[in-house]
Amino acid sequence: MKKYLQKMIGILLAVCILCCGCNRQPQMYQKVDTAMGTIISQTIYLSGDTTAADTVTAEVISCINDLEKEYLSWRMDSSELYWINAKAGSGQLLEMSDFLTNIVKQCQNVYVASDGAFDFTLGSVARLWNIDSWAGQFQGGSTVNTSQAVYRIPTREELDVAMMAVGCNLSNIDGSYINLPERMQLDLGAVGKGIALDCVKQVLLQQEAVTGAVISVGGSILTYGSKPDGSLWNVGIVDPFDTAHSIGILTIPGGCSISTSGDYERYVEVDGVRYHHIIDPATGYPADSGVKSVTILLKDNNVDSYEGLFSDALSTACFVLGVDKGLGLAEAFGAEALMVDSRGEIHMTEGMESYFYLSNAEK
Ligand code: AMP
Ligand code: MG
Repeated sequence: MKKYLQKMIGILLAVCILCCGCNRQPQMYQKVDTAMGTIISQTIYLSGDTTAADTVTAEVISCINDLEKEYLSWRMDSSELYWINAKAGSGQLLEMSDFLTNIVKQCQNVYVASDGAFDFTLGSVARLWNIDSWAGQFQGGSTVNTSQAVYRIPTREELDVAMMAVGCNLSNIDGSYINLPERMQLDLGAVGKGIALDCVKQVLLQQEAVTGAVISVGGSILTYGSKPDGSLWNVGIVDPFDTAHSIGILTIPGGCSISTSGDYERYVEVDGVRYHHIIDPATGYPADSGVKSVTILLKDNNVDSYEGLFSDALSTACFVLGVDKGLGLAEAFGAEALMVDSRGEIHMTEGMESYFYLSNAEK
């Protein structure tokens, strides 16, 4: 009898352990790294093989590093973009990889739809402003100390010369072949973080143990899967007038790409004037459209699509276009937009209103 009881207790215990294992809630892991010159923060929920956390977070970072190194960097001579720029004016027709061909194609779509407000051929102007030397919001300070640093605003004449080498229509792109005219330089800075989100999504899709995640690449954020309690993901929107605080949150499901472009992200102040990093391709100067920040949200419709890229390209384009045209452009791409103007007023597409909660406002 005693043996029988012991056996029963043993079986009951085994069943309990198994049941607990089956129902065990996914565990949360968080990791912060730097890559692509910005901060990458990962919050990942894993079920089953929770030892995969280190592997998953490492794969996310290595896919972002590879993206920069192999395709997008204009500084690294290991990247395709570097060589396309280096051969500008050589008359040589270069064949792009399928990956870069598709990116260029999507960028051309946004260029055309935005009437050139988004223009990924403005590298010569961006270099002239030396935007990449300005400290970014995540790099421990937002302004170049111009009293010490040697920084000079480009002259109108210099900008005019650089502007002659800007414009997608000049860029001799034919399918997967490209041949940049003299001095034209591609700049994918306005879509890099969004493309990173699209790559990260592919990494997560291959990881069975991942049940949900929020990945932030600088100002661009991907929500993936769901939280263990089934609640929606919350993403804060920075107050462009007070970047330590948010103006509100977006409460959204998994499968969204969100990108923000703001005049606070990267800028230099000279003689009390702020010059930010979003250039109006019509003037060569920082865009002056009465907008302080633009947030674009795109929902995942297709695993092979480019929601991250489009959210990033559109946030830049809408910033240049201003409120009315910007909201129209976002809608044309099936995207939601939230724009803060220079008076602090918030403008949204209709669909965005169901996701956005103002800070301190009643739900
Ligand atoms: P974002 O922060 O996504 O708006 O991207 C800004 C970056 O994209 C800048 O640092 C430039 O490298 C580049 N850029 C600036 N203005 C434009 C523009 N109008 N179209 C395309 N790229 C731009
Ligand atoms: Mg952008």
